[in-house]
Amino acid sequence: MNHQSIDRLAFARAAYDAVPLYDPKRAPVDLDLTDNTNLWGMPPTAERVLRELPVSDVTRYPSLYAADLKTEIATHLGVTPDMIVTGCGSDDIIDLAMRAFGEPGDRVSGPEPSFAMIPIFAKMNALAWHGVVELPSHQPDIDALIAADPRILYLCSPNNPTGTLVARGTIEQAIDGTTGLVFIDEAYAEFAGVSSVDLVARSNRVLVIRTMSKAYGLAGLRVGYGVGNPALVMEVEKSRGPYKLNAFAERAAIAALRHDRAWVDEHAALAVANRDRLANELRGLGLEALPSHANFLCVPIANCVAIGAALRTRGVAVRPFPDLPGIGDALRISIGPWPLMRRFLDAFEPALRETNA
Ligand code: PMP
Repeated sequence: MNHQSIDRLAFARAAYDAVPLYDPKRAPVDLDLTDNTNLWGMPPTAERVLRELPVSDVTRYPSLYAADLKTEIATHLGVTPDMIVTGCGSDDIIDLAMRAFGEPGDRVSGPEPSFAMIPIFAKMNALAWHGVVELPSHQPDIDALIAADPRILYLCSPNNPTGTLVARGTIEQAIDGTTGLVFIDEAYAEFAGVSSVDLVARSNRVLVIRTMSKAYGLAGLRVGYGVGNPALVMEVEKSRGPYKLNAFAERAAIAALRHDRAWVDEHAALAVANRDRLANELRGLGLEALPSHANFLCVPIANCVAIGAALRTRGVAVRPFPDLPGIGDALRISIGPWPLMRRFLDAFEPALRETNA
């Protein structure tokens, strides 16, 4: 559907004039390295549980607020269940929390480049996006972000699409220097081995946002969660409403957290090893990826769209990011088992030659 060609309704919400449909241009391809999901597969116990689900999980409603999953996540993180809210992916947590705390017109500030959905979710909630280009060190320009006096300050660590870890001191500065909410998006935290979950004790304005779509290999089930002070979580829970997580998702997520942690850790470590190995291979081609703490590499390279297209004709997709603020053109490459990385490299070299990069 080309929504640009559809006449807007006279009675549509004015704030929705500026809301685009998100389109990461993810057409099916043989080897898809565009979305940073788990290319090794899904955790084994979660898979077994999914295959053996009772029919009543389909015919009956799921649990109201996913209480069992909240308990499992809380145990995993060493917090209490009333500090957890679950959602349909961490996308949902971001959206719910914006809806819970943002009055129309309020400002959301965050670094650029960062997760492309944030400005869209802000607009969907009638909030004003205020992006600030990151510093040359790839750290957020925290003074400028705080100076914008945002209702919500968004940070992403490791950041997407750069892979950079936000310094602990910078996150603390964001918390101490603002009066609004601080969202810390940790979609890729398992690969970095660092987390800011403990900072929810520092302020009741902090929401740490996590997902089971990446290291946990459950992207298709859509499981995300937020961690914060119980009073903050209660507001997000109101915004969430009942039955948000389907029964399959809740069961598989519980199984993965309870029984598959070793599998997840092992494959996160493999992703890190293969990422560094791929960075080395790219160095051999004269390309320097940004230092990544996630399961992807961001490689500044001119002509990224043409290179992406040339790769696609060879059955391989990576995500081109044309003209990233402060960086320029770049490719983001998801990391998976080494034979897949080899296959990418085998397609990449002729794609570079073809585009004269
Ligand atoms: N945050 C970041 C930084 C992401 O990269 C993504 C997925 N691309 C998400 C949140 C959303 O992931 P999900 O909704 O699958 O949990």
